[in-house]
Amino acid sequence: MKGFQKIFGQFQFVVISILTTAIIVWLAASLQLVPADPPVSQEQSPQPSAKPAAEPPPESPSPDRVKPASPLYDNLPSIPGTPPATVNTSPATPIASAPKNYYGHLPYAENDSSRLVSVGEFVRGTYRRTEYLDQEATAAFAQLIQAAANENLTLQPISGFRSVKDQSELFDQQVQKHGSQAAAAKFSAPPGFSEHHTGYAIDIGDRNQPDQDLKVAFEGTTAYRWLTTNASTYGFELSFPRNNAQGINFEPWHWRYVGTQRAAVQFASARSL
Ligand SMILES: [Zn+2]
Repeated sequence: MKGFQKIFGQFQFVVISILTTAIIVWLAASLQLVPADPPVSQEQSPQPSAKPAAEPPPESPSPDRVKPASPLYDNLPSIPGTPPATVNTSPATPIASAPKNYYGHLPYAENDSSRLVSVGEFVRGTYRRTEYLDQEATAAFAQLIQAAANENLTLQPISGFRSVKDQSELFDQQVQKHGSQAAAAKFSAPPGFSEHHTGYAIDIGDRNQPDQDLKVAFEGTTAYRWLTTNASTYGFELSFPRNNAQGINFEPWHWRYVGTQRAAVQFASARSL
């Protein structure tokens, strides 16, 4: 016992020192852990919720078609039903889920009417009708008309923007005339599948040869020949040339504007065929 006390006495200082150090280390550790712990859990919890909120924006504009398509598809009713978490990616859904084509015609959304600007009147005798294009295409179309006028050609805007409702009436007339939807589709796009919905497509005639309006024979007019040479200068191209990849009948009168990014995106599918 005495020997133990002696030994303990010798190591008393060491033991106390170890105990004190242990207490200090424990205190220091607990002091560090208290502030350290919550930030870890705080960072983890906001991150998952922050990521979905932060990620879709960079994702949604990245594919070229999604960014310009969003204003186009704003008025589609299928979007509101989707949960908020998928709202950012949902504009692509209507495109993906829309039928690929209808007897060769591709789906097009109706442009916002607030973007439409008059490009002139279709005149036939006493009948007059104002025609419209998207605001991006009107200046280019005016320049096209002027350039033709400088060469004594009078281009006639026949039909520009067309609503889905108007196209529906037009297509119904074609169905009655040709007997079936398949037959009608050779002469007219069904509602929802007309380039005219975009506000970037327009049927053009030669005012000096109105009897050739909307006919393959328009191909023989001076106006058509001039257009094939000069329209591209103003951002216009023929949508349905002979033997086009869509399989649509040759339409020498039907031109589309592709001079801006928004315009070109409308027709990206058609042009990639
Ligand atoms: Zn047309």
